[in-house]
Amino acid sequence: MTLPAAKREHRKGAPLRTPMTLEEKVGKTLAELGATDAKGVETLFAEVRAAMERERQPLVAQGVPEGDREKISKALRDRWLARKSGLISLVDENWLKRSPKELKPVVGRHFNELRQFSSRMELEQLLKDVPAQLQRAVASPMGQHWQGAVAIDLRPDLTLPGYQRPLGSIHPITRVQREIEEIFLNLGFSIETGPEVESVYYNFDALNIPDSHPARDDWDTLYVDAQTVLRTHTSPVQIRAMEKHGAPLYIIIPGKCYRHDNPDSTHSPMFHQIEGLAIDTDITFADLKGTLDFFARKFFGEKVRTSFHPSFFPFTEPSGEVAISCVFCDGQGCRICKESGWIEVMGCGMVHPEVLRHGGLDPDRYSGWAFGLGIERYAMMKYGINDIQLFYQSDVRFLEQF
Ligand SMILES: [Zn+2]
Repeated sequence: MTLPAAKREHRKGAPLRTPMTLEEKVGKTLAELGATDAKGVETLFAEVRAAMERERQPLVAQGVPEGDREKISKALRDRWLARKSGLISLVDENWLKRSPKELKPVVGRHFNELRQFSSRMELEQLLKDVPAQLQRAVASPMGQHWQGAVAIDLRPDLTLPGYQRPLGSIHPITRVQREIEEIFLNLGFSIETGPEVESVYYNFDALNIPDSHPARDDWDTLYVDAQTVLRTHTSPVQIRAMEKHGAPLYIIIPGKCYRHDNPDSTHSPMFHQIEGLAIDTDITFADLKGTLDFFARKFFGEKVRTSFHPSFFPFTEPSGEVAISCVFCDGQGCRICKESGWIEVMGCGMVHPEVLRHGGLDPDRYSGWAFGLGIERYAMMKYGINDIQLFYQSDVRFLEQF
């Protein structure tokens, strides 16, 4: 049988180097212990602190009879805290007072921590740390057996880093929606909402898009059943609001819409619209132009110019598209505005008499204008986002930028 080298040495009678005890260590200077830098000092103090923690365990353990706890406390006090020969005093005497000048601040800091920690070996001190009401509980017969355990846990260590609760941020779609809402709320409009699962009547028929109308094909509709759809626009709420409130009516309608579109960088089967509707006596196209021009300058900046072009929607007559001077090139022409200097931002028009009639209003007495815009498109322009999918992927790296 072959023995390890060390054991063979021992057999021959050579002394084994036994590790130094704590008492031996605190009797030497730092230099004698080879602790010549901050790291070495830290290691030594950590060792002392670990020993202290280990030895005070019986003091705070559960189920120790009270008389024994006092005996343990006294023994610990004598060994660690005695004025002349206690371990703490020896650390003070041999490590701190005799440490080289350049190490003194480091040793001093560790020594103070050690001294503070050592107070937790005194039973009286442990009890003093417990709030008064818990002391009463501890004094009760039931509280007796766990008093030590409670005492150590209740004192918070204020040097530890606190819990961090990261705050979320407002989603860019919500942010832009609120910004648009704010502009119209300040103009005296109110907010109206309606169901996302809508009847074919409200989504199409009441908006002057009868079954036979070719315009129904323009909306790539998601049908729930023959009479129910996921609304393709927020416009059904126009009819619902007219039925509910009558005229005059000044509302904006934010909300989700659904179309049978394949997702790509500019399309999504779910997206957000804001619809505006103003109905009163003597409302003209001039009111529409004035309001939308004001809105565009509020949202995109005072320098922005608007331009209206004829268009077609079944629920407005006449209908128009609104373009703004390109916010990226100031109307000079760039890749984003396809060199035209203009970007289309919404559809609008005067409410069709049929639509007013479906809402229960007399088109000979009332007139109105309406507009509709896509919130995603506004958010993409505002923040320079080039892929609509980013809004729905819940990627924190994207969202935390807002
Ligand atoms: Zn441009």
